[in-house]
Amino acid sequence: DHPLDTLDWHNAGAALGAPYYTPQAPSPIAAPYPVLLNDEVARLIGLDGADLRRAGYAEVLSGNQLPQGAAPVSHRYGGHQFGVWAGQLGDGRAITLGDIQRADGKAFDIQLKGAGQTPYSRFADGRAVLRSTIREYLASEALAHLDIPTTRALAIVGSDAPIRRETIETAAILTRVAPSLVRFGSFEMLFYDQDFEALAPLADAVISAHHPEIAAIETPTERYRAWAGRVITLTAELIADWQAVGFCHGVLNTDNMSVLGLTLDYGPFGFMDSFQPDWVCNHTDAGGRYAYNQQPQVGLWNLGRFVQAILPLLAEEPDDAVQIGQDMLQTYRGAYDAAYMRRMRAKLGLAEAHDDDRALVESLFKVMAADGADFTRTFRGLCHVGHAADGNDSAFVDEFVDVDAARQWLVDWRARLAHETDDEATRQAGMRGVNPKYILRNYLAQQAIEQAQAGDYSELERLHEVLKAPFDEQPEHAAYAELPPDWARGLVLSCSA
Ligand code: AMP
Ligand code: MG
Ligand code: MG
Repeated sequence: DHPLDTLDWHNAGAALGAPYYTPQAPSPIAAPYPVLLNDEVARLIGLDGADLRRAGYAEVLSGNQLPQGAAPVSHRYGGHQFGVWAGQLGDGRAITLGDIQRADGKAFDIQLKGAGQTPYSRFADGRAVLRSTIREYLASEALAHLDIPTTRALAIVGSDAPIRRETIETAAILTRVAPSLVRFGSFEMLFYDQDFEALAPLADAVISAHHPEIAAIETPTERYRAWAGRVITLTAELIADWQAVGFCHGVLNTDNMSVLGLTLDYGPFGFMDSFQPDWVCNHTDAGGRYAYNQQPQVGLWNLGRFVQAILPLLAEEPDDAVQIGQDMLQTYRGAYDAAYMRRMRAKLGLAEAHDDDRALVESLFKVMAADGADFTRTFRGLCHVGHAADGNDSAFVDEFVDVDAARQWLVDWRARLAHETDDEATRQAGMRGVNPKYILRNYLAQQAIEQAQAGDYSELERLHEVLKAPFDEQPEHAAYAELPPDWARGLVLSCSA
């Protein structure tokens, strides 16, 4: 048996069937070969990476050979794209082999992204290119190790089959692993179908698999309200996580919003280098709808679409449901602000909460924005600055052109630190645990991609290793924490993947 045959396949999607899931086998692809396998994610689903390598994973994780017991499906969903209802979208190139249950009862969807056309492919080819699978693999691993909720990547399988994008590229298939891949748009689709009866079975599937304490609430309307509240908090926490590391998703359409609050669908995402509050990582987003500083607000807007779609679940009477939904959405701002300030205080080494902490955070961002200081290096540099005013502040102030402004901010920060009780070593260690030294800078991904396209995966493996310990000093890899070189400053990305 292949190791993937030994998994406990449950196939919840196939069991739910229409209107949520459509049976769909992957399309065979020519001569697939292994590119990258993630031992940690193999362990997550109860497998041993060495076994997978020994057995060969390219045939199964390209979709050429189905694991015994898997019942592959594609998922039907819709979504608001750039603020406009786009109608039915669905898994146009992703095929979920099934979901597997671990010995401890935890379930994971195993999905092949780029496995061929489905009923939802519309005009497109159902494929993914090596470049985009590497970007998703590295970014999802980077976020996972920054302790940010995300889908994971088990493997990349390549094929020399030509794929037409802006140029001709080669195909690849990413194996994506997540507790659930249900989106806001999954519910919006049913709402726009006016198939209100179909909302509860999908909601209950999500609730029973992922929120057992909510599943225990017997009154349906109360259960669904508790669940909607959970989706709101999970989304607020996720977006606070992104803001705290300078991550920009790039395409926050409601079809890319996970009901579990996972980072989902990596396209033209970016980690910020130089701090710019209205930074846009997706060059097709001309209006800046999904700019870095818009993400918290977009989270609320998207939740509005989600809550609207599930209104029929929240109360018997439509008017009551609308009122309840609006009240629930009102909680987002407070949940987000609290989540954001928790993270920012930790980044500044503040264990206690003071009223003027927000002003201290904002004044730092103001100095950073004025100088275009590097987001990651500035916060990491601050981890090395001491309590005492006579210390060596260069790790921080050297990130600024306007050194006086940086020093003035340190005066305010130290005045605030005087109210803290942690000793210096404890504070600095805590700060190093939340201010990463290593992030997935675009140019680093680009270098790994270019070498992989030439058949050399060693840089890809090395970069993955570095990103697995983003908070560690890793002095031997210090070059990965440097400012991007000049050639990399103008890198822009589009949705073309
Ligand atoms: P995305 O921008 O990746 O979130 O995709 C938006 C929609 O387009 C989803 O329904 C995708 O499944 C679909 N899509 C993107 N690329 C392809 C492709 N190469 N083939 C088929 N469908 C695609
Ligand atoms: Mg960790
Ligand atoms: Mg998508």
